[in-house]
Amino acid sequence: MERTIMVLIGAPGSGKGTASKRLKKDLGLLHVSTGDVLRENVKNGTELGLKAKSYMDAGGLVPDEVIIGMVKELLELPEASKGVIFDGFPRTISQAEALDTMLAEKGVEVTAALNIEVPFEEIEKRMANRRTCSSCGSIYSLDFNPPTVEGKCDCNGDLIQREDEKPEVVKGRLATYKAQSAPLVDYYGNAGNLYQDSAGDIVGKTTHQVVDEFQEFLKSK
Ligand code: ADP
Ligand code: ZN
Repeated sequence: MERTIMVLIGAPGSGKGTASKRLKKDLGLLHVSTGDVLRENVKNGTELGLKAKSYMDAGGLVPDEVIIGMVKELLELPEASKGVIFDGFPRTISQAEALDTMLAEKGVEVTAALNIEVPFEEIEKRMANRRTCSSCGSIYSLDFNPPTVEGKCDCNGDLIQREDEKPEVVKGRLATYKAQSAPLVDYYGNAGNLYQDSAGDIVGKTTHQVVDEFQEFLKSK
C-alpha cells in the first residue's frame, strides 16, 4: 500500500498540534512532533536532549543534521509503515530536501503539505495565555480553558509558563519562522502538493474546520 506522508508547516502556535491529533485520529497515521520528541529527550537528559536544549530555550532551531538524523530513525519505526504526519518538520529548506531524499530511497513522496496561516499578533496572544502542568503536561489557556484553581492543574500539579512561551522568546521564534520556515510554503507550492488555509480569531475559522477542508483536498488528489 502507498505510504501517506503529511507535513504541517505553520508557524509556532498556529494549531499544528491540534490539526495533527485530528488527522491522526481520522487517518490512523503515526504522529511525529519533532518538538515533542526533542522535549522528551531534554526531560530524560539524553545525548540528543543535551545537544538540543540551549537552542530550544533560546527560541532558535536545533541544527539540521541533529533533526534529520532523528527523523531518519523515526521513519524506520514499524508504526510508521502506513504513513506519518510530521508536525513541526521540516522547518528549513534543507530539512525538506533531506526528507525528499529519504523518502525517494523508499520510493515514496510527500503526499501533501498543510500550511495554517494565523496572524502573528493572535499567536503572541495565545502563547502568552498558555500554561502547562509541570507534573502531567496538560495544557490550559487562561482565556478559553482556565484552570479551576489558579496556578493549579486538576491533578494538583503546578502550572507553569514554558520557557519558550514567554513573550520575548515567542517574538524570537516567530522571527525564526519568518526567516527560515516561511520559504517552505513556496517549496511545497512549487511541488504542487500544498494546501494553504487561514485560521484564528481574526479570520474566524477553527483548526477543525481547516482539517475538514484539508481532508476534502486529500480526497481530490
Ligand atoms: P512550536 O511548533 O510550538 O514552535 P515545537 O514544539 O514544534 O514548537 O518545537 C519546539 C522547539 O523545538 C523549537 O522552537 C525548536 O527549537 C525545536 N524544533 C522542533 N522541531 C524542529 C525542527 N524541525 N528543526 C529545528 N528545530 C526544531
Ligand atoms: Zn497536571
